[in-house]
Amino acid sequence: MDFFSHVTAGWVLSERLQLTRKEKKFLIIGSIFPDVDIFIGLLLYLFVDHDLGRNFHREIMHTPFFGLIFGIILVLAIKNANKKQIFLCGFIGVVLHCLLDQIVSFSFKYPKLLYPLSNATLELNQIGMWPLIIVNLLTYLVVWISAFKLYKATSKTPINIFRKEV
Ligand SMILES: [Zn+2]
Repeated sequence: MDFFSHVTAGWVLSERLQLTRKEKKFLIIGSIFPDVDIFIGLLLYLFVDHDLGRNFHREIMHTPFFGLIFGIILVLAIKNANKKQIFLCGFIGVVLHCLLDQIVSFSFKYPKLLYPLSNATLELNQIGMWPLIIVNLLTYLVVWISAFKLYKATSKTPINIFRKEV
C-alpha cells in the first residue's frame, strides 16, 4: 500500500479508538514506520551489499514482532506518557501497516506475519488476479471513504494531529 493510504488508515483507526492527541501521533507513526526499511535497504544497497539492500524491504520491519520492538523503543524514548498506551499505539500502528501490506501488495512480497515463529507468508496472489484486484480496490475504498466521512464530521485531517497546538 502507498504512503498516503497508510497514514490515512492509521489516522482513521486512531480517531475511531478515541485516543489522545499524543497517542494518535504514535499510532500514525507506527502505521508508516515499517516502510523506513525502503531507505535502510537503499543505504545497504549503496554501501554494503546489493542483494541485502534489494531484499531488505518487507522483511523484519514488516512483522508484528517488529511492532513489539517499535513499541518498546517508544516506551524507552517517550517521557511523560502512559507507557502501556504508547506501547500499544506503536504496536497497533505497525500491525495495521503489516495487515494492509498483506491485503494490498503490488510487489507480491508479503509480510511474514508469524515471524520469528515462522517465515511463512500468506500468498494472496494465489486467489487469482481479478479477486485480488477487487480485494485491493475494496480495501482502498474502505480506507478513503472512512477518512472522507471522518473529515466531513470533524473537518480534521492527519495533519491536524501533527500541527503545533496554538
Ligand atoms: Zn510497507
